Amino acid sequence: MTDQRIYLDHNATAPLRVQAREAMLVAMGAYGAASSIHAEGRAARQLVERAREQVAGLVDAEPQHVVFTSGATEANTTALSPAWQISSKASVVERCMVSAVEHLSVLKGARFSPEQMESMPVDRDGLANPPVWKNRLELFAATGARPLVSLMLANNETGVIQPIREIAQLVQEVGGVMHCDAAQAAGKIPVSLRELGVDLLTLSSHKLGGPFGGGALIKASDALHLVDPLIRGGGQERGARAGTENLVAIAGFGAAAEVAKRELVIELVRQSALRDRLEMGLRAIASDLVIFGEAVERLPNTVCFAVPQISAEIALIRLDLDGFAVSSGSACSSGTVKASHVLAAMKVPPDLAACAVRVSLGRTTTETDIESFLTAFHRLHESIHTRRGSKAA
Ligand code: PMP
Repeated sequence: MTDQRIYLDHNATAPLRVQAREAMLVAMGAYGAASSIHAEGRAARQLVERAREQVAGLVDAEPQHVVFTSGATEANTTALSPAWQISSKASVVERCMVSAVEHLSVLKGARFSPEQMESMPVDRDGLANPPVWKNRLELFAATGARPLVSLMLANNETGVIQPIREIAQLVQEVGGVMHCDAAQAAGKIPVSLRELGVDLLTLSSHKLGGPFGGGALIKASDALHLVDPLIRGGGQERGARAGTENLVAIAGFGAAAEVAKRELVIELVRQSALRDRLEMGLRAIASDLVIFGEAVERLPNTVCFAVPQISAEIALIRLDLDGFAVSSGSACSSGTVKASHVLAAMKVPPDLAACAVRVSLGRTTTETDIESFLTAFHRLHESIHTRRGSKAA
């Protein structure tokens, strides 16, 4: 194992930003509970409200609509509830439609019975097809059922960006509730809650350089009210999420969101160029390279690729020994290489999906990192092909 590590797994988690660390240190010195009315409590409250503004600012939302959670997983589980009240009408959501490529916290975390859940297909590029969704939504509307729809903005494995605005409009037309998991998109591409036209948006702190243990569910307006919060008890977060606020995580999340917004455009341009260089280099190494979602709009930092016959398991281990942290498909699970439900939904044959490697760049990634990665991958490719060749001889 080399001492010099090159971290290319920013979609799993991004390194903590200096500004987040500093904000957390300040928050550690504040010892009041943010709900207390004394001076110490008010000082803590100020830190929470500042972070609320910073997080809202990142996604063009109103601060009072931000509900802090422990992460995107909790935000998704909170959102995917049948108990949303729209305006003052006590109408219940009868159905939950989710795309087949959602994060497992959506696929497994929804608080609906299995009969109420509906998995929606994606095409071979990993995209939701609006006419297909329109059809299904109209069928629901005909039965008088109100759907809650969850479609992620950008996929964690492929980086593929979904047509959220179009789907949100369709959902609105049938009086449904539209939720969007933007955990991977926020901080990497511009995200505006208003422009997307969604009702609910999920964010994760550690994906954008904040600490673990922070996240948010953000509403588009006051018209939407969750009758059945996931965590009940005290009235924190306007009754939407009980428990004394995690001041340190919230302050770090806020600071990270503010810097992510400030650096967004520069990083988007810089990382896109690095990503393009990486893809060009990979193609020069392996003419049979497949890049998943290549034909459609993707995050500027993500490349999910496969070279037939180089299994992801071998690639990950060999690259790790060479000093590179990359991942296969979703890294969120157990550290083992499992078949990706995302690639399966894109109809990628299982033997090719078993070769899928995800490289995700971030603000610490340099040109040298990309060149070093290409050298290491070239070595890996040569060694596998030489071994195969000598076996055949
Ligand atoms: N949604 C997406 C799209 C993700 O990529 C992840 C993390 N891999 C999550 C949700 C869960 O995020 P958290 O770790 O903040 O719970």
